[in-house]
Amino acid sequence: MARLTDPITILKGIGPTTAKRFAALNIYTLGDLICHFPRGYEDRTKLLPIETMEVDVPACFKAMVMNTPRTAHIRKGLDLTRVQVADHTARLTLTFFNNKFAAEQLQYGREYIFYGTLTGDFVGYNMTNPVFEALDSQPVTTRRVLPIYPLTAGLSNAAMLKAVRQALSICDTPAEIIPESVRREFGILDAQRAYYAIHEPANMAEAELAKKRLIFEEFFVFSAGLSLMRASRAEKKTTPYKNLNLSSFVDALPFSLTGAQNRAIHEIVSDFASGAPMNRLVQGDVGSGKTMVAAAAAYLAIQNGHQAALMAPTEILAEQHHHSLSKLLTPLGIRTALLTGSMTPKQKGAVRTALENGEIDLAIGTHALLSDATQFADLGLVIADEQHRFGVAQRAKLSAKGSDPHLLVMSATPIPRTLALLMYGDLEVSIIDELPPGRKAVDSFLVNESYRARINAFIRKQVQEGHQCFVVCPAVEENEDLGIKAATVWAETLQKTVFPDLRILLIHGQMKGAEKEATMAAFARGEADVLVATTVIEVGVDVPNATLMVIEDADRFGLSQLHQLRGRVGRGGHQSYCILTSHNRNPETLARLKALCKTTDGFKIAEEDLKMRGPGDFFGARQSGLPTFRVANLSMDLQTLKDAQAASARWIDTEGTADTPEAIALRQRIGTLFQRAEGTMN
Ligand code: ADP
Ligand code: MG
Repeated sequence: MARLTDPITILKGIGPTTAKRFAALNIYTLGDLICHFPRGYEDRTKLLPIETMEVDVPACFKAMVMNTPRTAHIRKGLDLTRVQVADHTARLTLTFFNNKFAAEQLQYGREYIFYGTLTGDFVGYNMTNPVFEALDSQPVTTRRVLPIYPLTAGLSNAAMLKAVRQALSICDTPAEIIPESVRREFGILDAQRAYYAIHEPANMAEAELAKKRLIFEEFFVFSAGLSLMRASRAEKKTTPYKNLNLSSFVDALPFSLTGAQNRAIHEIVSDFASGAPMNRLVQGDVGSGKTMVAAAAAYLAIQNGHQAALMAPTEILAEQHHHSLSKLLTPLGIRTALLTGSMTPKQKGAVRTALENGEIDLAIGTHALLSDATQFADLGLVIADEQHRFGVAQRAKLSAKGSDPHLLVMSATPIPRTLALLMYGDLEVSIIDELPPGRKAVDSFLVNESYRARINAFIRKQVQEGHQCFVVCPAVEENEDLGIKAATVWAETLQKTVFPDLRILLIHGQMKGAEKEATMAAFARGEADVLVATTVIEVGVDVPNATLMVIEDADRFGLSQLHQLRGRVGRGGHQSYCILTSHNRNPETLARLKALCKTTDGFKIAEEDLKMRGPGDFFGARQSGLPTFRVANLSMDLQTLKDAQAASARWIDTEGTADTPEAIALRQRIGTLFQRAEGTMN
């Protein structure tokens, strides 16, 4: 018997070249292969009489070959084989292109099972390149439910099928992790049957059952992991903070806090006083002022003699936080420092030494803060900004750096309830549901290419009034996806032919960190009129003087992403605008974009987005530290998620530390899953 961890090269027919193709799908081991689930199925179980087959609907049928196949050599590289087949209802001509196999195999007077698509009209019907099998052969491509796999170049569905079938025949399926009682309660298949049936279902109903089990399993593992984390933290104790006076901090602010900011800060204060480590998520729409809430928390931790760390998802954002927070906090006697990946080793070394010696109170940085090289003298508070870019595993890792520090995560992405349950099942939540006073809603419009001249004129008008504009494109460079705007090309076009007299800057994800930062900083200082960008500007960056956001090919973005991008303007006191362009004609797509123009409710937008795109895309291309769910669809499987959560919570109470084979296997799976979630971080 082979093991799940054995490389796929032990399978017949998979050498180094083929293995590389599988690697493109992240399939290296037999286990990976067995967990490479079909994305759908074709029901080829039913045999139809030829007469009842419909044009353009693929179907299976049994028919006899009525003549000897004739092959004509049309021209170099094109051979055409024709053969007549019939059942008791009708006759049909089959045509094969360059198919020696068909020409040789199909024999006059014998019956075969075919699967193909009928084409034609009242003049006559035809079928091109059907697949076929002899009646006495093992059903591979006909007379079965055929799984359709996610594929990659050079790898056919048939090859995948063969590999999976072989793997299943020489290797045990992944271990059972769901206790029998739970399986019985929710009517789900056992592991072995499910893993087998997802690839080789006897019928469509069995495929559904297998899928249900595997969805349940994914949720079960994930929520059990979260429950374990929460349970282990609940046991921890910290010294309650004594000094909870914020008056010097509040006096130093250039504005008064909103009611919602005050409420969130109040909740944090009670966490600090409680004697247990805080685990809190602050959720508030773009521009709601989360940074000040974080600053207040950091201020208190530092007043109580501890260090604080603020982690941002991008260098630009870390830099900006460092800039604004040091301006606010340095006069209050707080020593801040920036730590990002693009600093020189010497600079980083200096900051790290100072952190270790307790000479810095507040460290602000990117995930460089996570690296093992960074040690703190006494880390009391960890803040993760725009936290959806950091997974559960990162939270765990950073908290491990102090002795159970308080944890505060901040997210601007209004997370639909399903996702929130999954991602933040281990956190308390504060919501900032109020914007600072004087904010005007961003006026949003959807237009097509015929408005180009007007868009350009509008950009010019904003600039003439002393404001700045963002122009966001979906791609960095031109690629085969023709017709969508690429930032590099568009920036050049705007500069050369449209606005030769304006100062245009370009920023995108392929630029070096330092270069991006310099560009962003220059724009923030007002040294350019227009910033042509990709979604690198999506999170956090604050340029209050920017009043116009043009998003090209807006249909290429998720709604939440568009909402997030739109949040980059309207941050000063001036009326701001967002123009979405699209040449998409799909009525549904346009309706969604129009809906976005009409609402500013981030939660509504997020729910809609999740329905449309699923969780993988919800946060953009990067998986956001959420594990990849292979079968589950978070917008559709809410009930299963709830069931799995209830079941896993009970499991933690009763069996979490037990030594049953299921419990051991489950703990192992949780470990791998959270590690993998960490691996997806950039
Ligand atoms: P986000 O919640 O998106 O992180 P920020 O913290 O960046 O929002 O705040 C957005 C802008 O609002 C900043 O320029 C900030 O200085 C300003 N701001 C924050 N709180 C207030 C307030 N209570 N009154 C006025 N302006 C505020
Ligand atoms: Mg922010």
